[in-house]
Amino acid sequence: MDFTFSEEQELVRETVRRFAAAEITPIAKHHDDAETFPREMFRKWGDLGLLGVRYPAADGGSDMDKISDCIVREELSYASQAFASTWSAHTHLGIWPIWKAGTQAQKDKYLGPAFAGTKVSAFGLSEPGGGSNIRALTTKAEKIDGGWRISGSKTYITNSPFADFMLLVARTSPELKPHAISLFIVDLPNPAVVIHKLEKEGIRASETGLIHIDGLELPDEALLGHETGTYPIILESLSENRVGVAANCIGMARAAHDAAIEYARDRVIAGKRLGEYQAIAHKLADIATDIEAARWLVYHGAWLVDQGKLTTPMAAKVKLFASEVAVRASEQAIRIFGGAGIMRDYPVGRIHRDSLVYVIGEGTSEVQRNLIARDLEL
Ligand SMILES: Cc1cc2nc3c(=O)[nH]c(=O)nc-3n(C[C@H](O)[C@H](O)[C@H](O)COP(=O)(O)OP(=O)(O)OC[C@H]3O[C@@H](n4cnc5c(N)ncnc54)[C@H](O)[C@@H]3O)c2cc1C
Repeated sequence: MDFTFSEEQELVRETVRRFAAAEITPIAKHHDDAETFPREMFRKWGDLGLLGVRYPAADGGSDMDKISDCIVREELSYASQAFASTWSAHTHLGIWPIWKAGTQAQKDKYLGPAFAGTKVSAFGLSEPGGGSNIRALTTKAEKIDGGWRISGSKTYITNSPFADFMLLVARTSPELKPHAISLFIVDLPNPAVVIHKLEKEGIRASETGLIHIDGLELPDEALLGHETGTYPIILESLSENRVGVAANCIGMARAAHDAAIEYARDRVIAGKRLGEYQAIAHKLADIATDIEAARWLVYHGAWLVDQGKLTTPMAAKVKLFASEVAVRASEQAIRIFGGAGIMRDYPVGRIHRDSLVYVIGEGTSEVQRNLIARDLEL
């Protein structure tokens, strides 16, 4: 067993760390307050090759591995989870299924601009009727001559307020069979797709939409994969992305921990530095241990992706643990800051608000436990 990162992976970390410190950290609070995302960031990411990290050069990607993808996520998340979530929804949710199941024509049309950052993607799965159960999905795609007519609603869709295309998940058969769920590529804007930007408490700089689709007509070429065969692709994509967002969670936990350590070193109460109080030191020790455990679980998950061996329950364990670590770490960091932790002058409050997104998004902690328990054959 070799747990060391390669020289190339360390270089990726250093490059993204420097980029994020220079280009994201200084504007993270402004965009959190304004609830806006600076779209030009996609061009900068594209120029650095950060939008195709996990994809092979043959498809126009940066030809690295999932471990490198997780390193990028960790470092972007350290600076701002909203920026990292925006990146994640585009580079994984909106692109991976095209890369995996798209025709050559679909790949040619969408992957190049997506890797360059000239086109931004979104992924529309969750619906107002419930996000936890994919099989409850009601958005319908009806076959018409030469294409499809789609109607329904989607909600909490990251990047949709400014996306250039969206992967839309719709039911292609009136029977409620899981395998009759498919993906369609929708170019945006489209008059049959009305997107309303939502206000949020977490990852506020990431733009999120509620979507109404009424009689959207798409040509046959918009169908991604087979009309009855995309469901396994969706599940595989979600599993891999659970490992990905778990890496995001390490970045948040580290950011909260580092901020709390700095504060504990500087703050003096009754002549003693905060870090000298054992109760505070123990909190920081617990967070350090949690982060260490999460880090190796996540990178093991990434390694499994690279080996083609990731399973659904393993992905669920990785995501469950790391997301709960980010929540615990950022909450403990707020406690260490005392009243200052509630003030917006410090980043720990924002990190905590942001951390809650990943015990919900990409499948809630309860859903992850269901997936893990199912594997126990109780
Ligand atoms: C900021 C943000 C961004 C998002 N971005 C996207 C995106 O880009 N694309 C997209 O498709 N979706 C996106 N989502 C949606 C996200 O995936 C869903 O919010 C999530 O899957 C939960 O679905 P829900 O909100 O409908 O909660 P519900 O399904 O209504 O769940 C409510 C509660 O019930 C519990 N629950 C539900 N079913 C079960 C069960 N079987 N067993 C035990 N407990 C259960 C849940 O754990 C939760 O506590 C995003 C969400 C957020 C918050």
